[in-house]
Amino acid sequence: MTAGSDPATVLLMLDVIYPGTFDPPTNGHMDIILRAARIFGRIAIVIANHPHKDCFFETEERKELMEQLVSDIPNVEIHVWDGLIVSFAEKVGINVILRGVRALTDFDYEFELCLLYKSLNPGIETILLPTDKKYLVLRSSVIKEIASLGGDVSDMVPPAVEKALREKLQKA
Ligand code: ADP
Repeated sequence: MTAGSDPATVLLMLDVIYPGTFDPPTNGHMDIILRAARIFGRIAIVIANHPHKDCFFETEERKELMEQLVSDIPNVEIHVWDGLIVSFAEKVGINVILRGVRALTDFDYEFELCLLYKSLNPGIETILLPTDKKYLVLRSSVIKEIASLGGDVSDMVPPAVEKALREKLQKA
């Protein structure tokens, strides 16, 4: 068998940080996490806990959802962080940040982020993983809007997230 032909092979023993708001996690996020878990050594998912950011799900709820979603992926761990992502990288000693990109519009923003990370810490490298075309239009903000208007989001988020959205919207 040639290297990498088995999709379950870990190809690089490189640890990466995958930061995001994950409000809530979507099938697009999960695709990036699952693919990354086959490529890299350890994936540290970092859930942003920014008090000024108005999130639909509380930080603890986003963490609990993510914990359920990755519970059977052994090389993934979850952290919550309220500071700069480069400070998290320095704290845990991982110098590679993974970001997902959907379309060219994302690319501009993500490219600027790469440069910002580098200007804050020249030792940080960023890897961009293109989305699978199935998830090109998936965005947490749009999914929340569709769900709040009574639309079906079952193809867009994992079942646990769909349930959490439904319950949260009922309470709202
Ligand atoms: P949002 O989902 O609102 O864009 P996040 O901060 O939760 O924002 O996203 C975290 C990371 O996941 C970012 O790198 C973002 O580009 C990436 N991402 C989000 N949605 C997708 C998707 N559908 N496919 C691939 N990557 C995605």
